Amino acid sequence: MSPTGFEYRDGVLHAEQVALPLLAAAVGTPAYVYCANTVRARYRRLDQAFAGIPHHIHFAVKANSNLSVLSLLRELGAGVDIVSGGELYRALQAGFHGRDVVFSGVGKTVQEIAQALEAEVQLINVESEAELVVIDVVAARLGVMAPIAIRVNPEVTVDTPHAYIKTGEKGQKFGIPRDDVARLVELTGELSHVQLRGMGMHLGSQIGNADPLRDALPRLLAAIAYAQGKGHPIAFMDVGGGLSVPYESHERDADIDDYATIVRAAALETGLTLLLEPGRFLVAEAGILLTEVLYRKHAAGKDFVVTDAGMNDLIRPALYQAYHAIDPVTLTDGSVAADIVGPICESGDFFAKDRRLPDVQAGALLAVRTAGAYGFSMASNYNSRPRPAEVLVDGDQFAVVGAREQLDDLVRLERMPLQWRTA
Ligand SMILES: *Cc1c(COP(=O)(O)O)cnc(C)c1O
Repeated sequence: MSPTGFEYRDGVLHAEQVALPLLAAAVGTPAYVYCANTVRARYRRLDQAFAGIPHHIHFAVKANSNLSVLSLLRELGAGVDIVSGGELYRALQAGFHGRDVVFSGVGKTVQEIAQALEAEVQLINVESEAELVVIDVVAARLGVMAPIAIRVNPEVTVDTPHAYIKTGEKGQKFGIPRDDVARLVELTGELSHVQLRGMGMHLGSQIGNADPLRDALPRLLAAIAYAQGKGHPIAFMDVGGGLSVPYESHERDADIDDYATIVRAAALETGLTLLLEPGRFLVAEAGILLTEVLYRKHAAGKDFVVTDAGMNDLIRPALYQAYHAIDPVTLTDGSVAADIVGPICESGDFFAKDRRLPDVQAGALLAVRTAGAYGFSMASNYNSRPRPAEVLVDGDQFAVVGAREQLDDLVRLERMPLQWRTA
């Protein structure tokens, strides 16, 4: 089996043992297809790299929030990293307990903080002084002690493929600038309903090598030592997510051993429980977006392949200029250099530009690869398009784990009789 779970057999792409043309005939297109065994393998690989030291893997729900994917990860022993009350709700629906949850995010509302405290989450990662004060007030109102961690912005240089996925550099909205950490630790000591239990960071996504981590870890350790010196009961050290996956054939998978060597050493030095927040690493390669070619078109000297999936289904190429490999589901002769585009009325609606691919015709199926992370979770209804189905494959079986939206779903929240009001 290929490491992604997708492989050709007799010229036909399969997800594990399921032939994709049969799956497409059963559920229609566009559809996201996820391989359960790939998620399992990736989870175990990361988990094993940290064997022997106390650690917990908190899957970043925003990468893929499907309930069945979350349940699959829960069965493997994962916790979750959430960034909204909606993600908390999903996590609880998927069977996670509050103790499995770390709550990150730069703009938590009072309501979300209360929801998290009521669920008894493991940690709330604090991103500003103002937020710390609000957490204390909400916890006091509920009569509980809020377990918090400070998200430190270690202000290191991070090299990511796109500026929008950097978070641990100076001048970002994320985290507490390292010069301000001491003040926040002080303030935590003065507030009666927060308890400082951890220190964390998250440097960004698709970090290709361990250099930023190597620079950042000593800064995190310094923050931990400082807080411990002030008597805070620190139990957790959270190194965030950001492990990269290869999207293009020349890219290499994250070097887990290198990563683990560096992080393990730091965790051992502190003796704390290590928290990891991988998102993409666990699910990206496990998924594809399955789409049908609607038309071939030739215009202004260019070839276009028009698909039934668009940027509302998968926005990464439009938002991050992200590369996704695209393969025909049935191996096809000939070759063409074409723009692979969706049906949406935006010139940003493309999956690939000037891409060489087999000479696929209308009716052919394409697999947009490495779409298991930040795919469906970023999908929208733009152009009033129902969001696609999601399918989980496990061995020779598959199940629809997210039903395709129907036309009525597009309008049902707008159909109530209007009740005009004045302020
Ligand atoms: C997005 C995010 C992650 C996961 O990032 P990946 O690049 O998908 O691993 C982890 N932690 C936090 C706080 C995040 O915002």
